[in-house]
Formats: sequence, structure tokens, C-alpha cells
Amino acid sequence: MASHSLRDIQPLSFPGLESSAPIIIAGPCSAETEEQTLDAARALSGIGIAIFRAGIWKPRTMPGGFEGVGDRGLPWLQDVKRETGMAVATEVATVEHVHAALDAGIDILWMGARTSANPFAMQDIADALQGHQEVTVLVKNPLNPDLDLWLGALQRICNSGITRLGAVHRGFSSAGEHIYRNNPQWHIPFELRRHAPGMTILCDPSHIGGKRQYIEHLSQIALDTGFDGLMIESHCHPDEALSDSAQQVTPDDLKGILDRLVVRSSAPVEDELTLLRQQIDDCDHELLAVLARRMTVSREIGQFKKSNNLRVVQPARYQDMIKARLEEGNSLGLQDHFTQQVMQCIHEESVRQQLDLFNGSSSNPEL
Ligand code: PEP
Ligand code: MN
Repeated sequence: MASHSLRDIQPLSFPGLESSAPIIIAGPCSAETEEQTLDAARALSGIGIAIFRAGIWKPRTMPGGFEGVGDRGLPWLQDVKRETGMAVATEVATVEHVHAALDAGIDILWMGARTSANPFAMQDIADALQGHQEVTVLVKNPLNPDLDLWLGALQRICNSGITRLGAVHRGFSSAGEHIYRNNPQWHIPFELRRHAPGMTILCDPSHIGGKRQYIEHLSQIALDTGFDGLMIESHCHPDEALSDSAQQVTPDDLKGILDRLVVRSSAPVEDELTLLRQQIDDCDHELLAVLARRMTVSREIGQFKKSNNLRVVQPARYQDMIKARLEEGNSLGLQDHFTQQVMQCIHEESVRQQLDLFNGSSSNPEL
């Protein structure tokens, strides 16, 4: 088999979309009826969306949820394509879905988070896609925060010769209550970028946030951190949606969000940025010099404590010091949590250095 590398994957382009503009995919979580699908598509096309999404096979976490209309929805997507000229995208989770979607001329197939977590399913899908260079494939991150699992899913598709390949970051499941439905863990898609520098990586703020009020903020973070576009769920009557109703927005609201988003240049404005970075470098040099000076003083104190047979850690002094630093930090506009973490870390290193003096250097490797 020819070897295919994620490193060679090139950015996706779509007819009618400028290559420098974010790729926006929008549409309902699920195609529910022909009318609902077409209404959403017309409204979204009306606000300039060029790629329409709608799930027809819906993997629900719990049985009894709306599991999608199935193959019956394929002609609705074909109608969307014919009537609006939009490219159409749907989720596939089995070989049967892949064949049905390809036969219907669906432009973009995506694998959901429950599918990309399953190497057997991904391999079956990859095999079914072999020879279909025309189709665009997007792989959402697996439910669990495991970069290798995501990379493996992408690699399987890549191995089957698909070159129009991209990834979608939709956050990760986590136990317990969090403000977002799925934890973004942004470092994971950033790390994915390192493995596949040219590959299109989109963000799905709808599934990360789980509530429509978070979409704008999450989208802005995505654009600010170099994602190539967004997949956003949109329904003409979100509160009546059969799946994911809390996180869908009307096409009108979506237009408002998109109009307000700031798209930043990927090429830095050199002069200004260089000067600002120079300032950051200067601050860091100063910080390190001050820290080194502080540790010298700490060691002197350590010598004094040792000669006078005093304990290294004096809790009352530590409490007073933290309290005073928090107040000082606060007056300088630093958040308590940040000041506390920095001071704890510095204090820990001071203690470690003093213990070295007391006990010799190899005795406290962890502190
Ligand atoms: C979806 O896009 O509607 C969906 C089910 O997504 P995910 O796989 O990210 O949960
Ligand atoms: Mn959904």
C-alpha cells in the first residue's frame, strides 16, 4: 500500500469560498422533515452559508432519543444541493451509511465522536471510502481526550487514499458538572496541528458549549487560535428541535454571531508584533533575574535557620506572606488564583533549596 502521511494533507477548498476566509458549515443537528430541512437551508443560504450540515443517522447516547430519519433524508439533502447550490454534509457511522451517502452524491461525510473513538468502525468506513477521491471527509475528535485515537482515526482515512481530509474539534466528555457540555481541552487540537500542519481543522462550538449562549465566545477563541473554520448547528425553531435543541441558533442569530466575529490575519504585522514580543522577552529576563536573586536570599535565610536550629517552614510567616502578596497582586490587577499559584510555586522552590542546605542536595528530589 502506498504510504500516506497526515503531514501531506493540504487545506480544504470549496467552490465559492475564498481561501483566506474561515470555512463555515451550518445546519440543523438533525434533518427532521423535508420542510424543516429545506427551510433551514434556504435561510442559511440567504445569509451566505455555502456548506449545509444535517444529521440523518444520529448516534444517541441513550436509546429512545431521536435517532434520525435515516435514508429517507438523503433526497432532502439532494434537494438542498439542487435548490441552493450549497455543498451538503452528513454524519456516517457504518459502511451502509457510507454507501448510501456516496450514492446520493453527498459532498462531505463526517465521522462523529462516538465513531472516531472506535478503531474497528473507523477501519470499516475507511475501507468503504477507498477509491472515492471526490468526497470530503471530516473526522470529529473521539469522545475521550486521546490525541492518538483521533490521529489513528484520521490516519485510517488517509491510508485509504482520501486526500480531502479535515478534522473537527467538538470537545471531550468528562464526568461531573462543567459549564460546557464538552470540555474543550484546546491543547489537544493544537497538538493535532503539529502532526498535520496543512490539514483543515474546524471547531464545533455548538457541541463544545452545549448552550447557544456560548457559541460566539467559543467561536472567537477558535478563530483567534488558528482554527480554519466553524461547524455550527442552526435550526429555524431551535426550541422545537428533536435533538440538541439548547445549542442550536436561528439562521438570523447565526448571522449576528458571524458578523460580530473578528477574523484575524495569520501573517503577523511584523513591526508592531516584534516590538511587543521584545517587551515580553524583556519582562521574562527581568522575572528570571529577580527569581534568581530571591533564591539567593532564601539560601541565606536557610543558612541562618540551620545555624539557629530553626524549622525550614514557618506556617505563620507563610500565611502572612501569601496574604500580603494577594493584596498586592490584587491592587496590580492580578487575579488571586494566579498570584497564589505563582507564589506557591516560588515558595516551594525556596523550601527545596533550604532543605538542600539542611540535608544535602539529593535528599529532596520531589519538593
Ligand atoms: C452532530 O454533529 O450532531 C453530532 C452528533 O456530533 P458529535 O459526534 O460531535 O457528538
Ligand atoms: Mn448535534
